[in-house]
Amino acid sequence: MKSDLTPLLLTQKLIRFNTVNPPGREKACAAWLGKILEEAGFQIAFYEFDEARTSLVAALGGAGERTSLCFSGHLDTVPPGRAPWRMNPFSGEVEGNKIYGRGASDMKGGVAAMVSAALRLSKIGGLKAGLTLILTAGEETGCEGAKYLAGKDGVLTGAGALVIGEPTSNVPFVGHKGAVRFELTARGKTAHAAMPEKGENAIYKAARAIERLEAFDFGVAENPILGKPTLNVGIISGGININSVPDRATIGVDIRPTPGLRADEIGDRLGVCLGPEIEIRCLEAFSGVLSDPEDPWIREIFEIVTPYLETPPVPKGAPYFTDASFLVAPMGHPPAVLLGPGEPGQAHSTDEFCFLARIEEAAEIYFEMARRWCLAR
Ligand SMILES: [Zn+2]
Repeated sequence: MKSDLTPLLLTQKLIRFNTVNPPGREKACAAWLGKILEEAGFQIAFYEFDEARTSLVAALGGAGERTSLCFSGHLDTVPPGRAPWRMNPFSGEVEGNKIYGRGASDMKGGVAAMVSAALRLSKIGGLKAGLTLILTAGEETGCEGAKYLAGKDGVLTGAGALVIGEPTSNVPFVGHKGAVRFELTARGKTAHAAMPEKGENAIYKAARAIERLEAFDFGVAENPILGKPTLNVGIISGGININSVPDRATIGVDIRPTPGLRADEIGDRLGVCLGPEIEIRCLEAFSGVLSDPEDPWIREIFEIVTPYLETPPVPKGAPYFTDASFLVAPMGHPPAVLLGPGEPGQAHSTDEFCFLARIEEAAEIYFEMARRWCLAR
C-alpha cells in the first residue's frame, strides 16, 4: 500500500529521474513505476526499443469481458535547454502554488496523476473492467516507444478508450492533426558559373517547386474541429560553391494533415503538383487522431471535467501530435482524449512548472474516469 504517494510526491519523484531525450534512458524511471504498480496488483511488462529505452505497460484486470480503459503518458522529456534555470531542473522544487522541473508540465505531472488514480483504483475490489497504463519512452523524438509497442503483437489490443496525459490544463482535446515530412529533390547538371547555359540549374527547379508548394491545395474540406491541413517549407539547401551551376537542391516540407488524409495520398498529390522534375521521398508519417464529440464516453469526459474548468469544454483539437498517432490503430480506434494537468505554454520552456492544484485535479478526474469505466460498466 503506497498511500503516502500523493500526486505531488509522485510528480517530484518522476522529475528527479533524469529522462532527458536524447539520450532518454527511461529504464530506471519505468522500473520504479513498475515496482509500485506491481505492488498494487498490476501486471507489469517492460518493452525496450533500444538499450535502457524502456516503456512500461501495467494492467489491472476486471472480472468481466469488457475492454479496458487506457491511460497513456510519456516518461522522457526534452533537454533543459541552454538558458540557465532559476531552479535545478531535476529537483522538483515547490514554490508557492507551483512545482518546477523539466517535465513538470510535459508530462511527469500528468503521469503522476495517472499513476495516483491507478493506485487509488487498485484498492477498490470488484472491478468489472480493467485499467491499463501505457507509459512510453522516446516520445519527444518521434514517438519511438509507442511505435515499438504498436509493432508488437497483442500489446495494445483490448483498449476501449484512451486518455493521453499531454499538457492541456485539464481541458479535454478530442484529437490532433498528424504530421508527414517529405524531402523533395531537384536534380540538374553542373557547369562553370561563367557558362550557365551548359548546365541545368537544380536551384531554379526547386524555386519553381516552392512557388507551387506555396499555393498547394490539399483538395479536402476543412475539418470542423481541426481546421485545414497545412504545409510548411522548412528547409532548403542546394549548391556547393558560388561559381558552379548546382546539380542538386533539396526542400524539406512538413505537412500537418487532418485525419483521413493519408501520407501516400499527399505524396501522390504532391507528384501531380510538382511534376516529373521533382523527386518525392516521405521521411516520416504520424497519423492524425479525432474522436466523435458525440461519442457517449467523450460526453461523459466533458461532464466529468466541467466542474474543474472555468468554462464548459467545447470540442477542439491540440496543435501538436502525440503517441496516440501510433496507439489508436492497433487498439482498434477507440475514442481518445488528450487531457493532462500541464500548462501547454510550459512544455519545453525554461523554468518549466505545473500548478499543484491542476495535478491534484487531474488525479481526481482520472480517478473518476476510471471509477465510472471499471466499476459502473
Ligand atoms: Zn509531451
